[in-house]
Amino acid sequence: MTVETAKETRGFESEVNQLLHLVINSLYSNREIFLRELISNASDAADKLRFAALTDDALYEGDTELKITVDYSDKLKTVTVRDNGIGMSRDEAVEHLGTIAKSGTKEFFGSLSGDAQQDSQLIGQFGVGFYAAYIVADKVTVTSRRAGLQEDEGVRWESDGKGEFTVETVKRKKRGTEVVLHLKDDEAEFADGYRLRSIIKRYSDHIATLIEMPKEGEDTSGYESVNSATALWTRNKKDISDDEYKAFYKHIAHDFEDPTSWIHTKAEGKLEYTTVFFIPARAPFDLFDRDAKHGVKLYVQRVFIMDDADQLLPNYLRFVRGIVDSNDLPLNVSREILQHNKAIDSIRAASTKKILGAIETLAKGDEYSAFWTNFGRVLKEGVVEDAANQEQIAKLLRFVSTVSDGDEADVSIEDYIGRMRDGQESIYYLTAETLSTARNSPHLEIFREKDIEVLLLCDPVDEWVTTHLTEFDGKPLKSILHGELDLPGEQSTDDADDAGSSDPKQHEALVEKIKTALGETVKDVRSTARLTTSPACLVSDDADMSANLARILKASGQELPDSKRILEVNPTHPLVGRMDGETDERKFANWAQLLFEQALLAEGGRLDDPAAFVKRMNDMLLEMSEA
Ligand code: ADP
Repeated sequence: MTVETAKETRGFESEVNQLLHLVINSLYSNREIFLRELISNASDAADKLRFAALTDDALYEGDTELKITVDYSDKLKTVTVRDNGIGMSRDEAVEHLGTIAKSGTKEFFGSLSGDAQQDSQLIGQFGVGFYAAYIVADKVTVTSRRAGLQEDEGVRWESDGKGEFTVETVKRKKRGTEVVLHLKDDEAEFADGYRLRSIIKRYSDHIATLIEMPKEGEDTSGYESVNSATALWTRNKKDISDDEYKAFYKHIAHDFEDPTSWIHTKAEGKLEYTTVFFIPARAPFDLFDRDAKHGVKLYVQRVFIMDDADQLLPNYLRFVRGIVDSNDLPLNVSREILQHNKAIDSIRAASTKKILGAIETLAKGDEYSAFWTNFGRVLKEGVVEDAANQEQIAKLLRFVSTVSDGDEADVSIEDYIGRMRDGQESIYYLTAETLSTARNSPHLEIFREKDIEVLLLCDPVDEWVTTHLTEFDGKPLKSILHGELDLPGEQSTDDADDAGSSDPKQHEALVEKIKTALGETVKDVRSTARLTTSPACLVSDDADMSANLARILKASGQELPDSKRILEVNPTHPLVGRMDGETDERKFANWAQLLFEQALLAEGGRLDDPAAFVKRMNDMLLEMSEA
């Protein structure tokens, strides 16, 4: 095997070019953060070396004092961030600094608007890392050697950030990475000790690895430490300022915005561990990406073990960021071990409770509506996923209902129960593809008339929520699209044929005639008191899947047996009254078919044969205008 050592020029992956362009253009007002990002990478590199050295002590090469050095030269207009962490091989430099490894990256860039202000918010959610260097630098030189490689296996990577970079193999005695920023002419102000120290204090003080800078003052020989270099979570809660928590969050979450809230817990007793969890202000771009990595950072006795440890929290809390530091796990813990570990199970159960408690607190304040907009859909999954905490999660859910003013989900189940009518036993809901379909559903007519609130559920996940959350506080949740109606102070629809003044026997005969005309199209036809202004609607049998769920499953490619619906007709509607007098069998059959089709359209359903529907309707309109 020949190993490439010569200098070569390569192109960035196209997403890197997009990212660079965006970073340079939209993060200018945040430009100090370049240092935070580079120090964050250096600290990760130190963490990775400590972890790798657990099983291979030789990687330390006799130098166990891990540190990050920030240097500068006002003459050369450079800022340098150096670490003696894990380092990079030539291949790693090409891969890590020339491509973006996150899943969903293409989709993310496709979704950007081109508006710098708007996109800078989104880029914050994406995280910019190393490329932040190009906000202030017009050339970046990275020299590195991976721990464990030979001295002549170092790498130099260099780029002006304009589409290409060079890599070559170089001699490098020191393990670890050095990043030299050649500052743009108008960014020379950053080559200043005071400026750099104040940025480090502001953004990187919590970094657990020592950060040092050239000494200042009388004796300027050598370096001195400029951060406190203790892991934030090991400190006493009351000694940690909000700003420190926020800076820590930005480091671990690669976020630009402050978190909404955080919880810092120390467990002592049978299990000893510390957790710090943050609820971000905004959903990451890949929250619903199946391949995206989620989870929190795992430490064992202060040693970083892994990122994205998804066993530590349930999947429906995947938006939570943070760290877990355990004293009970072995240092050589692997993802496989995490899956069957009693300590992990207890940490997860306790952490889930803590986080749900924090969300409950949030729910009492004004910030909850933003939280819900960002994470509500994910939290709903918890109703399905986490039977043990279902009731607590259900309390946190927010819905749009028939009493909501706008489209914002602002109704909790407890609010709903507080407004239930005398004698009302069920919590009524309706699922639909869109809110406007839900709002205009004929099924709501009787509820409007009787002033009974109905929850309007339009998220696909709501179909699963309602199959798992069948009651709350002893009150059943009932779909108004299923089965017979049973409203307070009302007899069941079987006895409701006497709506209006007309003859119930006559209704029965009409219903039978419609049933015969529709034949196999429907499961049944019955008269209803559900409707006041519409002539007909479709309902499903109690045991049948809702039409909305069937639509969702079909759209996701699943084969489903056709389940037939029940047509309910409003005997008091003039159109239905007219049908009663129709003696021409062919015409009657057309009426009946139209009744079925319009009921299907009204609930947002799709007709099997729309062209036949149009023709049927036109024929009838013609006949009527000729009559
Ligand atoms: P992120 O840190 O979010 O993964 P970056 O763009 O900042 O993204 O860095 C990309 C990758 O480059 C890192 O994941 C890491 O593998 C590598 N890298 C960056 N800086 C260093 C460093 N100082 N030492 C070792 N590897 C580094």
